[in-house]
Amino acid sequence: MTAMRSSFLPFAVPDTDHAELEQVAEALRSGWVTTGPKTKRFEERIAALVGARHAIAVNSCTAAMHLALEAVGLQAGDEVITTTMTFAASAEVVRYFNARPVLVDIEPDSMNIDASRIEAAITPRTRAIIPVHLAGLAADMDAIMALAATHGLHVVEDAAHALPTIYKGRIVGSIGDFTCFSFYATKTLTTGEGGMICTDDDRLAHRCRVMSLHGIGQDAWKRYSAEGSWYYEIVAPGFKYNMTDIAAGIGLAQLDKLDAMCRRRRAIAARYSEAFGTIAALQVPKDTDPDGAHAWHLYMLRLNREHLTIDRARFVEELKRRNIGTSVHFIPLHVHPYYRDTYGYRPEDLSIAHREYLREISLPIYSKMTDQDATDVIDAVRELAETFRT
Ligand SMILES: *Cc1c(COP(=O)(O)O)cnc(C)c1O
Repeated sequence: MTAMRSSFLPFAVPDTDHAELEQVAEALRSGWVTTGPKTKRFEERIAALVGARHAIAVNSCTAAMHLALEAVGLQAGDEVITTTMTFAASAEVVRYFNARPVLVDIEPDSMNIDASRIEAAITPRTRAIIPVHLAGLAADMDAIMALAATHGLHVVEDAAHALPTIYKGRIVGSIGDFTCFSFYATKTLTTGEGGMICTDDDRLAHRCRVMSLHGIGQDAWKRYSAEGSWYYEIVAPGFKYNMTDIAAGIGLAQLDKLDAMCRRRRAIAARYSEAFGTIAALQVPKDTDPDGAHAWHLYMLRLNREHLTIDRARFVEELKRRNIGTSVHFIPLHVHPYYRDTYGYRPEDLSIAHREYLREISLPIYSKMTDQDATDVIDAVRELAETFRT
C-alpha cells in the first residue's frame, strides 16, 4: 500500500477567507442584516454575469424553484417533467402544489435527462420541464426548448450545479423561462444557504419577488429605509424566502473569486480525468464540447464493475480508510420510498439511472484542495483499481 494521508480529506469545503468575514462584519456594523443593499448588489452582479434581465435572491434554490412554479400558475393535478437523477428539491417543489413530478430516465454518458424520452412523458396535464445541469454539465437545452415550444411548456432550469456553465457558447442563466441557482454550502459559490431566480420575463420576475416576501407589494424591504413608509399591501399569501444581507455579503466576496475557484475545479477535473482515463476499471465523466464549459460542481466517477472484485460500497469504504471523503450522486428519486410508494415506480422503470447510480462515486473537487490533496485522491483511487482488479 502506498503512503496514506495522515488527515481526512473532506468531500467538500467552502472556499471562504477574510473577504467573506469582512463582508459579514460590514453588514453587522451597518445595522442592515436582512434584505438590503448587499442583496440588491448581489442580484445585479448575478444578473450581469449570466445575462438575465432579472435576478431575485432567495434563501435557497428550492425556494427559487417553488416561486418559479408558483409564478407560472402550477395547479394541483398538473404534471411537471424532471430527471430521476437529481436531488430531492427538483421534485418536491412540484409536490408543494399537489402536482405530479413525472420522472424521466437519463442519457448514459452525460447522466442528464434524456431529451429523447421527454416527448413520451408529455400528457395534456404537463405544464413544465425542470432540467438539471447535473454536476455542472449542461442538459440538452436545444432539444428541451424545442419540445417546450411545441407543447407550450415552461422550462425551469435547476442550475444548482451550474454556476458557471456554458452551453453552446451561451452561459446558463437565461435559456429557459427561469434559471434557479443554489448557494448551499457545497455548491460552486456559497452564501451558507441561498438561491437565485433568474428570468427575462418582467411579469414573472415581479410575481416571484412579491411572493418571496409574504406577497407584499414590490420592494417591501424599503419600508424601513428613508425612502419607505409604513404602508404596505398584501396582494397574495406569499412565502418567507428573502435572502439576508449577511448571506449576500458572503456571496459578493465569493463572486470576486468565482473565476479563480472555477479554474481550480477545472484543473482538478483535468488531473483526475488524465489519471483515470486509461484505467479499465474506471469511467471518467463526460466533459463539454469545445463551445461549452463544465462547472465541475461534482466529479462523478463511475466504476466498471466487470474489472473490479469489489462493489461501490466497498470502494467508498476503502477510500474512507485511506482518509478520502466521497459521496454518491444521486440515489435516483424513483427508488426513494416516497416516490416509489406514491407512484409505484420499480428500480428498472428508469433502468439507466438505476444502473449508473449503482456504480457512481463522487470524488472531492473544490478550490480549497491543494495539489497534494488531488494527488492523494488519485493515488488512492489508482491503488484500489489496481489492488481489486479482476
Ligand atoms: C443542492 C441542490 C438543490 C437545492 O439547493 P438548495 O439551495 O439547498 O435549496 C436543488 N437541486 C439540485 C440538483 C441540488 O444539487
